[in-house]
Formats: sequence, structure tokens, C-alpha cells
Amino acid sequence: MDCVSVRHEFAIRSGFSAAEVQAHLVGCPACALWARSLRAVDDVARPALIVEPPPQLALRLAELAALTPIVRATPHRLGPE
Ligand SMILES: [Zn+2]
Repeated sequence: MDCVSVRHEFAIRSGFSAAEVQAHLVGCPACALWARSLRAVDDVARPALIVEPPPQLALRLAELAALTPIVRATPHRLGPE
């Protein structure tokens, strides 16, 4: 994997899960530094982004979810049928 692909995979999946990504990070100091920096930002920002909704909002959302039918996507055909 090249550096751009590794950084894309790391950012999208937010971690070291892919073996190819891990192998690249072991051998590429620039990407390893980039990954550590991204993780540090994530560790600081993630707790600040988790917000408990007010009880009335949570109740209303639960009611709406119970009333909303599940709509499954159907494949869209291109061209004449
Ligand atoms: Zn790299």
C-alpha cells in the first residue's frame, strides 16, 4: 500500500485494524507519525462530541423511530428495462 491509501484507510476506519495498514505503519515513519497525531486528535475530540440528548428529545426520537416504517433501498436500474 502507498502512503495515500494507508492514510485514507486509517482515517476512514479510524484505527489500525487492517493488517496491510499496520504493516505499512511499521515501515513508514511519516505515516506512523501521522497516525499517532490523528489518534491524539481523536482521543481529545471524541469525548467532546458525545452529547446526551435532553430527556424530552430522546423520548420524542424514540416515538418517531417506533412510528417510522423501515424503508429498504431498491436497486435503481439504469437504461431501458
Ligand atoms: Zn507511508
